[in-house]
Amino acid sequence: MSHYPIFLTLAHSRTFVAGNGPHAIAKIRLLLEAGASVTALTSDDREIEELFGDVIDVISGPFKSKYLNDIKLLYIADVKDEELKLILRIARKLNIPFNHIDDPENSTFITPAMVRRGPVTVAISTSGKAPVLSRNIRQKIERLLPLNLGPLVDLIYNYRPSANKLIKQTTNKLKFWNKIYSDQEINKLLKLNTAQKNQRIVKLLGTSHHNRSVGHVLIVGAGPGDPELLTLKAHRALNEADVIIYDNLVSEDILNLSRRDAELIYVGKKRASHKKTQDQINQIIIDEAQKGRLVVRLKGGDPVIFGRVAEEIATLRDNNISYEIIAGITSAVGIAAHSSIPLTHREHASMVTFATGQLKANKVQNWKGVAGAGRTIVIYMGISTAPETASSLISDGFNPRTPIAIVENGTRPNERRIYGTLEEMGVLINDHEIQSPALLIVGDVVAEANDYVSREPTNFKIAN
Ligand code: SAH
Repeated sequence: MSHYPIFLTLAHSRTFVAGNGPHAIAKIRLLLEAGASVTALTSDDREIEELFGDVIDVISGPFKSKYLNDIKLLYIADVKDEELKLILRIARKLNIPFNHIDDPENSTFITPAMVRRGPVTVAISTSGKAPVLSRNIRQKIERLLPLNLGPLVDLIYNYRPSANKLIKQTTNKLKFWNKIYSDQEINKLLKLNTAQKNQRIVKLLGTSHHNRSVGHVLIVGAGPGDPELLTLKAHRALNEADVIIYDNLVSEDILNLSRRDAELIYVGKKRASHKKTQDQINQIIIDEAQKGRLVVRLKGGDPVIFGRVAEEIATLRDNNISYEIIAGITSAVGIAAHSSIPLTHREHASMVTFATGQLKANKVQNWKGVAGAGRTIVIYMGISTAPETASSLISDGFNPRTPIAIVENGTRPNERRIYGTLEEMGVLINDHEIQSPALLIVGDVVAEANDYVSREPTNFKIAN
């Protein structure tokens, strides 16, 4: 970019146009439209005097350096060479931005091609390299913008204070402006007369502020940790939420994608105080929604897999709060893909089970009927019960040397992946001091992982 684009405020600033002819006239017009006060130095041209004599200062005779005192912007049109040199020298000395028309070498700024509709201005530049292209682009944009767009934008602008007062939530405000400036709405408004326009805007304002006295809850799956595994819907929800309620499993990288002014509420849970804490979480969700906010309840992985979503939904229903669940990539799937483990396989696995190692009130998982050749099991929350789980799965039909993967912090920068066999599961977790969150994958398919290293029986101690 050889030229830096800005829109300059020139109202009441003194500007100067030197020279005669159509270029000088065009620039005087532009400057007047921007509210600038203009002094024009003409030699023999009566036209400028006739056109603008009432609204600008017109002077004639040779250029004098004092003319440029206090000038904020200078245009130079057709002037004699001698005079040009003098004007350029003084302008440079006084640091006045100047433009010698059609002479970028002797200019400190260029004037873009413009499409204007009242306050709406589109400026186009090719940095002076392709003026014809600028003109073509301008013509395209001209066709895009309705001719009477300017007055409509001015009219709608008058409703800004009311909109700010009436619509409290930022999300609703955004929705109102998005709606009113949608192509569809603009086209409707442009067909109406002024009174009808006002009526329609007032109506839109009314509906925008009424329908959200109670908020809305999005229960959103954040995936296993890698932010790129978010769905587009989840990403949009993060961008729109007034408040985001999240826990341990949600990675920092994902929170960083939330709207800058969103409130973040951490509700990390300790296993020991599960029940009470879930009740508190439910209460926070309800409280925030009843403030009329757009609430995102952000959960690791997918909300409908071991996410206690049923309890949250029940509370929302009891309180008549609308909600929506946005699917996420569950850790089993995210991690398996990331490690290139096919959870199913035409030869080795025709069934896959997602199970939890942790049951309510410390009850023991019943593993009967899920183990055996041709099956894959993915175990969530299975670290502390791993030795018992391994024994059950072996007695239920798995070969003790069935390959397993233990994946800690899957898909995150600090991921650890350990391979072994089912009978050494507990020992490996212990030796490697595996911490939550970690996932266990059991089945022959684990041997397909791209970094799988098989282990000889002598390499491990038997669990327990
Ligand atoms: N709803 C979540 C699961 C919540 S239960 C999902 O769909 O993934 C919590 C368990 O998920 C953890 O104990 C762990 O077993 C697993 N988990 C979630 N994210 C994980 C990650 N990034 N790496 C390893 N395990 C993970």
